[in-house]
Amino acid sequence: MLAFGVRRETPWPSTGRSISAMTTVMSRIAQVLLPLPLPEAFDYAEPEGMDLKVGELVAVPLGPRQVSGAVVALKDAHGHNRALKSVLARHAEPALPARALEFIDWAARYAVDSPGQPLAIALRGARAPKPRPQKLLRATGLRPARMTPAREKALATADAGSFPPKALAEVAGVSTAVIKSLIQEGALEIELREIPASFPAPDPARPGPKLNPSQAAAVEALRAMLDEGGFQAALIDGVTGSGKTEVYLEAVAAVLAKDPDAQVLVLLPEIALTQAVIARFAERFGAEPGEWHSGVASPNRRRVWEAVATGRCRIVVGARSALFLPFGKLALIVVDEEHDASYKQDEGFIYHARDLAVARAKIEDAAVILASATPSLESLWNAEQGRYRWLRLKARHGQAVLPDIELIDLRQTPPEPGRWLSWPLVQAMGETFARGEQTLLFLNRRGYAPLVLCKACGERLCAPDTQSWLVEHRYSGRLVCHLTGFSMPRPERCPHCGAKDSLASIGPGVERVAEEAAQLFPEARMAVFSSDTVQHPEAARALIEQMQAGEIDILVATQAAAKGHNFPRLTLVGVVDADLSLRGGDLRAGERTYQLLAQVSGRAGRADRPGRALLQTYCPEHPVMQALMAKDRDAFIEAEMAERRAAGLPPFGRLAAVILSGPDAQALEAYARALAASAPNGEGVEVYGPADAPLGLVRGRRRKRFLVRADRTVDLQAFMSTWRARAPKPPGPIRMTVDIDPYNFL
Ligand code: ADP
Repeated sequence: MLAFGVRRETPWPSTGRSISAMTTVMSRIAQVLLPLPLPEAFDYAEPEGMDLKVGELVAVPLGPRQVSGAVVALKDAHGHNRALKSVLARHAEPALPARALEFIDWAARYAVDSPGQPLAIALRGARAPKPRPQKLLRATGLRPARMTPAREKALATADAGSFPPKALAEVAGVSTAVIKSLIQEGALEIELREIPASFPAPDPARPGPKLNPSQAAAVEALRAMLDEGGFQAALIDGVTGSGKTEVYLEAVAAVLAKDPDAQVLVLLPEIALTQAVIARFAERFGAEPGEWHSGVASPNRRRVWEAVATGRCRIVVGARSALFLPFGKLALIVVDEEHDASYKQDEGFIYHARDLAVARAKIEDAAVILASATPSLESLWNAEQGRYRWLRLKARHGQAVLPDIELIDLRQTPPEPGRWLSWPLVQAMGETFARGEQTLLFLNRRGYAPLVLCKACGERLCAPDTQSWLVEHRYSGRLVCHLTGFSMPRPERCPHCGAKDSLASIGPGVERVAEEAAQLFPEARMAVFSSDTVQHPEAARALIEQMQAGEIDILVATQAAAKGHNFPRLTLVGVVDADLSLRGGDLRAGERTYQLLAQVSGRAGRADRPGRALLQTYCPEHPVMQALMAKDRDAFIEAEMAERRAAGLPPFGRLAAVILSGPDAQALEAYARALAASAPNGEGVEVYGPADAPLGLVRGRRRKRFLVRADRTVDLQAFMSTWRARAPKPPGPIRMTVDIDPYNFL
């Protein structure tokens, strides 16, 4: 559950006085919120003279441990006669701004969770290890006993400035042995210096590209919005390649130019996208923005955190947790690809970053811009209702046109047995290759085969204690559970019946499609882009650059490559299994499939060469496929909206899920019944369940679910917290999780 726990042995470096845990002189009471799943902040005595301020980070005792948290309030201790433990010390890190604290509190209420959970995310940067100080050499003024020309040169260079040892040798043109001997003789000394991160100021006056008329109109509308000031929201709803990024870059420039202290946050759904966006910011403003996501090394994260808190870093490009950074003057948040389901965090502290971005903008009195080629129904609804300014870009920039989308009916033209590409797709790939253009084969499935089955006994191989198939990965030779991370070498014998060589790989993953494409086009240069083959942002950048340089002919990819990228020579997109994401059948299956296929098709034909997208499907008559082929998004959205409205589902109603899990099926069942009995009655609220979760067993824990549906007029959070408060305490090993606005129904 916890993002980080308390480690007794590593208190933060602290300044200020360290004071024994019990004190008798108390002027004020400090309420300290701890980054732990506790229901509220705790009271501590503020030692005389400590002069704390709200937002400051402090060390306090908690039982036998020392824990660090944030001061969220200070009150007069007059008339208070309970003995309190006192604050131990103040940390040197910058304080959390008042609005950041307000946001943490809001986020916890929204998620019906304890405020310590979002605080833990907000403090991640402050807790990251500090960057190592740099070793620099300084001349001490002592002369070595014996002087040589090389030593003269080294000392003269050191007199002129401080250098790291290797650099000093290089600049002075001497060997490192010379430097070493000078250190030994005391003529040079090593100094450890912390180099503060430099975040050069972005220059909003640098010119951007000349905007086309619809981009210029959108920018005009955004400028007017920003001039009005206060909380404002806009949706840039523009087809793939219409130049949404150029449009929001102008809005960022306007914000930076208006106020020299204003800060901007740009959220992206995928780490793989950050490098390209960072490069565009660097080009536009002449300075690299701060980068924030799980792939950034800890010392750098700490640098960004501190620079954001002190206002030195004015632009951050990052993943969803960047929302919790301690911005002091946040003026604009951009949520790019706002429809993307990766914005939903559904483990630990459960939140949707798009929704929280709007909330943070409200708290900060700032503007928020959501951008997408396939906006979520929620955002389209807000735009229709006039809550968001709706800026539409209906055409691609320049000569580029949207690709033609054709459906391949797999009932008519099935691939050969054991193959996954039908002949119309293979033919199109051949033509594309012959023209020296690129193909993207899209299949949202990692690995080689999603199922391994024993032909002798029929067993489907699952992870131990988990109801989830093991996925075969050929590149690594392992069977992997994508849910729990469990993996094992592919066995020679069936683990169930012991039969030898009886295991069959069923169905395709990207590795298998790549194998087939390589057999069909042995001369083509191939690459696979999935989270297994591309594990770091650097690797993603390298692969994207190779693709842009035309060094790859066929790219086989999962959704890691379906989003946001610009590949000028890519003219054919082949979707191997267009029906895949329809199969889950949850309320967003149609919407999600439409978004994914429109996005991936949108990678084709982004420059002056026209593109095509071929979708292999068994249900070409499905409304999603028809809408894609007809390029009629609005009709599809209208039909989806009508269905959701009739069922009272989001955005016309609200949902929450309760997930229970425990090792013992009977105890879980009994608790689920007791929980059901304690549900409050509310008008306009229905509680469904308990039901066995579709994923009924994970890591040896049984799972059950409730689904709550409420009218929009209902305060769903109040309902859920009342229920939580009334519920009998879950017995020991049973865990209960509340998920407001669930996206995952498994
Ligand atoms: P989107 O975010 O809508 O997919 P981008 O902003 O990435 O679109 O633009 C697509 C491509 O078109 C990019 O290569 C971008 O540099 C280029 N582009 C967009 N607008 C302009 C413009 N006004 N002038 C020059 N190039 C542009």
